Amino acid sequence: AKAAALFNDAAVIAGRPLSAVTGAEIQAPLIQGGHIRYANLDYGASAPALSVVSAYLNEILPFYASVHRGAGYASQISTSVYENARDIVRDFVGGRPDDSVIFTRNTTDSLNLLAGCLPATDGRPNGDVLYLDIEHHANLLPWQGVPHRSVVAADTIVGTLEVLRAELEQRNVSLLAVTGASNVTGEILPIRALAALAHEYGARIVVDAAQLAPHRRINISTDDVDYLAFSGHKLYAPFGSGVLVGRTDWLDAGTPHLAGGGAVREARLDGVSWATGPARHEGGSPNVLGAATLARATQVIASLDHDRWHAHEAAIRSFLVEGLGKIDGVTVHQIFSDTDAETGTIGVVNFSVAGYDAGLVAAYLSAEHGVGLRDGRFCAHPLLKRLGLPSGSLRASFGVGSRLEDVQRLLAGLEQLRRTGL
Ligand code: PLP
Repeated sequence: AKAAALFNDAAVIAGRPLSAVTGAEIQAPLIQGGHIRYANLDYGASAPALSVVSAYLNEILPFYASVHRGAGYASQISTSVYENARDIVRDFVGGRPDDSVIFTRNTTDSLNLLAGCLPATDGRPNGDVLYLDIEHHANLLPWQGVPHRSVVAADTIVGTLEVLRAELEQRNVSLLAVTGASNVTGEILPIRALAALAHEYGARIVVDAAQLAPHRRINISTDDVDYLAFSGHKLYAPFGSGVLVGRTDWLDAGTPHLAGGGAVREARLDGVSWATGPARHEGGSPNVLGAATLARATQVIASLDHDRWHAHEAAIRSFLVEGLGKIDGVTVHQIFSDTDAETGTIGVVNFSVAGYDAGLVAAYLSAEHGVGLRDGRFCAHPLLKRLGLPSGSLRASFGVGSRLEDVQRLLAGLEQLRRTGL
């Protein structure tokens, strides 16, 4: 019931076709208490913490103590909260019992960690990391420090699978690194098919789920995904925590991510024997509250009614895309022509306004209409260049708690911009 209460009127609207939504619902008051309600359309950057999660943070604050190191009561509680968080996160992604769950700072940190764990024989890497040009820099730059091969995605998802197959045929690939959903366009990648493809050629797969995890159920066991990374702050938890989940063998043999206390079995003045398990990569005092709130957020998200959750987002998305299509000079951007608009996208819409700099439009929407969205190149410079948007575009993104009124405000702002100019 608590989780259901997180939904506001947009979720209720989502239960019915938009045509059945009454004007009164659509015209929900924009001005509350003398202030314009802030229309947060920037969930893709960071989603607001759920109230349940903030409450949980306050609950565990009194037991805030260093983990694994103290015999005191608070330390014991903190340790159990921290270790329990691993199991909760493992459940959330459908992890295998023997998968490692390593807490990190964010997705970027998780993928950098994995880059230090690629298998090698006699010091020589066993193969390349293969990735597409559509990736966020977090799933692109860590691989540039190791043997790698980047390829340009085709303009269809089906074609992209073929491009990847051709690469896998030709070279020795140890890891395929793909995003679960594009942070630029919201398009979802077929991770089960990609995992099967990688495995066919003896490679493993890592999925950057920074965008996918806050919008779709993930099951790495049934999808046969080897590694998965995501961030707490995009999944309705506060900043500062992320996670890497996946097969233990590479992680236990890899370079410890942070050398220091807790990461060792035995340290000597002239050498060290590293720990195995998550401790190997979690040197130093860990972010207990970050891990605990991330885990709590996953529980709330997992408890949402799946169909309502999707219907809510899909309703807002189609309303927005339809509305943008009616505004002169506005173009919606997509990577693939075969993306299914209903099921194949998350709550992210990318667009540009002809004749206007994206940064100026974003500033105008914020100042004049109280709409917060993101402009720029979305840490995906190669993709933006390929989409013909070298100076950037605009991105509206939303999720749990977003309202139809938020995107209506955006549409009204853009219509006014077209009518009156800046
Ligand atoms: N991957 C994707 C697809 C993202 O959208 C982002 C953040 O925008 C990241 C990775 C990096 O996440 P973080 O900044 O939390 O490390």
